[in-house]
Amino acid sequence: MLLEVEKIKKSYKVKNNIVEAVKSIDFRLESRNITAFLGPNGAGKTTTIKMIAGLIHPDYGDIRINGKSVINKGRFALKDIGAVLEGSRNLYWRLTPLENFEYWGGIKGVSRLKTLQRGKELMSAFGLESKLNSTVQQLSRGMQQQVAICTALIHSPSLLLLDEPTLGLDLEASDRIQSLLEVLAKEQEVGILLTTHQMDVAERLSDSVAIINNGQIIKQGFTKNVLKQFSSGETYIFEY
Ligand code: ATP
Repeated sequence: MLLEVEKIKKSYKVKNNIVEAVKSIDFRLESRNITAFLGPNGAGKTTTIKMIAGLIHPDYGDIRINGKSVINKGRFALKDIGAVLEGSRNLYWRLTPLENFEYWGGIKGVSRLKTLQRGKELMSAFGLESKLNSTVQQLSRGMQQQVAICTALIHSPSLLLLDEPTLGLDLEASDRIQSLLEVLAKEQEVGILLTTHQMDVAERLSDSVAIINNGQIIKQGFTKNVLKQFSSGETYIFEY
């Protein structure tokens, strides 16, 4: 099993209050599978995905990737994971895409040659080969997000984590990203876990969805079964 999440919990202390962001989440993801986390604002989606990425530590529970516990390993040690979690903040804006790839490839222990090869391949898949030497800050928001995804994939991880990967992007960038994610899952056997508020993205991309509310998964299953009860607008409507 690619990803096993077992009874994870996370609370934040805010002034004198405890916010139980994730109360208890159990979840599994196989290779080649795309799962979308859906749910209202503040439901605990980002906190869950950040724990899996090693950005924050659960208070309780275990997370295993390819059978090995990754709790307390730190995000740089997690070679099986690629993640774009906070906009495009895994990028250095004054560097070019190639320089960003070299930086992250180095951290993930990939040789310079392989990093450059893989980076060029990924950028070509997005039709962005002409932008390899522009600085990130010169690129459009949609291109920056595509470069952020290339960077997350530079070490060929088996698990890709994405927080709102297409939010606020133009249709072309959104479509290119979704097409690449489909190829990654179906042809390169990557497992993908993403959060989204966009129903059309969940419908097109995900094999399964998990609906999170109030720090818990309240429904999960094949996308077509779970979503047929919800309105098919841009933003889904929760009625429970
Ligand atoms: P959104 O769709 O708005 O991003 P979400 O489902 O991703 O929401 P989280 O961001 O995980 O939800 O937030 C879950 C709860 O934890 C919310 O009540 C939020 O205010 C709280 N929270 C998240 N991060 C922190 C933090 N760093 N410190 C304190 N509270 C936090």
